[in-house]
Amino acid sequence: MQSKLSDADRELAEDLDVTVHTVIASFPASQNKLAELRSATETDQVLSAVRLCIRDGIPTDTTWLQPEVKQILKSTAEIYDINGLLFLNNKLIVAQSLRKSILDIAHEGHLGVEKTKQLARSSVYWPGMGDDIERVINKCSVCQSFQRKQQHLPSSTRSCMAKARC
Ligand SMILES: [Zn+2]
Repeated sequence: MQSKLSDADRELAEDLDVTVHTVIASFPASQNKLAELRSATETDQVLSAVRLCIRDGIPTDTTWLQPEVKQILKSTAEIYDINGLLFLNNKLIVAQSLRKSILDIAHEGHLGVEKTKQLARSSVYWPGMGDDIERVINKCSVCQSFQRKQQHLPSSTRSCMAKARC
């Protein structure tokens, strides 16, 4: 076969390309975002290593790989490199240098830990993202007061919510 991509792969890549644009469109200042995301991915040590492993295959000896690289690669989800951006399933893998601004966007509504995690997880991924979100929210007084309000809900509502999470 001449082409590296089968028709099915190509179709999938096209679908994901649409996803890229959807993801990008949901970020503020999206005009410059795509170029920014690409160059950040290119210069990110972890993400460059992941891209090499996708292109050339995962080496047999992985001991020299950074823990973050291994964490991304061991995921059971599919990882794609589309035009220089990495996706884990339909989620954009965010370079280290852009994580703070993504956290700021996800945190804009001051929704507390769980809601902010949900929001972020719907479109982006990086190793330790949940911990990073917790760190930011735990330092935010607005989010803390939101959490306290949640805890003041009647206990029946709380147990329903707990069940819904399972
Ligand atoms: Zn907050």
